[in-house]
Amino acid sequence: MKVLILSIGNELLSGRTLNTNATWLGRELTSVGCVVKTQIVVPDDKSSIMTILDELIDQDKKECLLLTGGLGPTDDDVTRESLFEFVGSDSKFDSEYWNHLSYRFDKFGMAIPESNRNQALVPLDGDIIDNPIGSARGFKFIMGQTVLISLPGVPSEMKAMARASVLPWLKVRSKLEVHSMTICTTGIPESALIEKIRIPIQNDHGCEVGYYPSLFGVDIRINSNDNSAKEFLVKEITSLLGDNVFAMDNNKLEDAVVKLALEQNISLSFAESCTGGLIGHRVTEVSGSSKVFKGSAVVYCNNSKIDILGVNKDSIEKYGAVSEQTAKEMAEKVRLMFSSDIGLSVTGIAGPGGGTDDKPVGLVYIGFSSADKIMVRKFNLGSGRSKNKLRTSQVALNLLRLEMDNV
Ligand code: ATP
Ligand code: MG
Repeated sequence: MKVLILSIGNELLSGRTLNTNATWLGRELTSVGCVVKTQIVVPDDKSSIMTILDELIDQDKKECLLLTGGLGPTDDDVTRESLFEFVGSDSKFDSEYWNHLSYRFDKFGMAIPESNRNQALVPLDGDIIDNPIGSARGFKFIMGQTVLISLPGVPSEMKAMARASVLPWLKVRSKLEVHSMTICTTGIPESALIEKIRIPIQNDHGCEVGYYPSLFGVDIRINSNDNSAKEFLVKEITSLLGDNVFAMDNNKLEDAVVKLALEQNISLSFAESCTGGLIGHRVTEVSGSSKVFKGSAVVYCNNSKIDILGVNKDSIEKYGAVSEQTAKEMAEKVRLMFSSDIGLSVTGIAGPGGGTDDKPVGLVYIGFSSADKIMVRKFNLGSGRSKNKLRTSQVALNLLRLEMDNV
């Protein structure tokens, strides 16, 4: 089924809010076999909404007009009113829902504002779409061959409602079934990756291939109407990319690291300088990580490296805090301090200041220590302080993954 996404909100036009709803919907709709034909943003203004609906709708076409935003209780939320008027549906007051809303406010010790009354309005000619996590319910109207669906703008609510009812409903109505898989890669630039998989990609594989590069790596999305064609191409690509593939679909690198550590019963500890605890944070985002992650020492200044970890003062003076020697000692010392199987360290120059010809911004040393191995890798990860921290955490977690994979 073809879908036209209509995002409603002044803040989307002024640039104050990024239209993440349309992006998310585009991806999810495609994955259930819909084709997104257009995306339009209009202000919270009744006549603009009515005009654009009039322009977009073609009742002879089996299409879906999907609206988000403007279903809240405030004066600037005019989507409900505009939509009811557009489809020509009278409404009635749903006192049961009003009581339910009042009860919810009551639970938080608040009196329900009168302005919320419009959220209890239901159309006489349309369906209600339940909101499992908020107060603004959505609507579905059929006009000829076209279906109009209206969801709230709050991303978490919009997603919950889309997942629970809209996407499954559209999937059934979309003749075309799309089989999708995302191959998550890291440690290889997009151009090198494309070169590596050039031959299977050039073949007549019957799939649609998309590349999504980010600071963390490149995701390769494969879509096909034919599941075996998708499976075949995924297999070819993953075997060519080998170690660069860390997960399928939307799993994160930290998930892969924790999974490996759990499978092999390996305990981990980190000594973090330039990442300021980010690696520990990412690992602790994974449920179950407490079974393998012992802790992270954020040793940012030289004295902390010396006093807390026990890095040799002379090493820091001689080689510097950002050096192979310091990274090595940090990894060794943190492993002993936490009595873990693996100690991992990072020390680098995040920038924007502090770089020299010898040690430019982006220079990072990552140390690895286990009972029978000690090694340090040197990377140059470029500029941008926050980006550098993210890239460093990714490179460090990837190194950990590859080392555990080889145990
Ligand atoms: P509310 O009950 O919160 O008023 P609503 O349906 O009226 O819900 P809006 O007022 O349009 O929704 O937006 C609510 C919040 O969701 C705002 O913070 C807004 O910036 C955000 N939002 C709205 N539309 C989008 C969008 N397309 N992408 C991302 N965020 C959005
Ligand atoms: Mg609103």
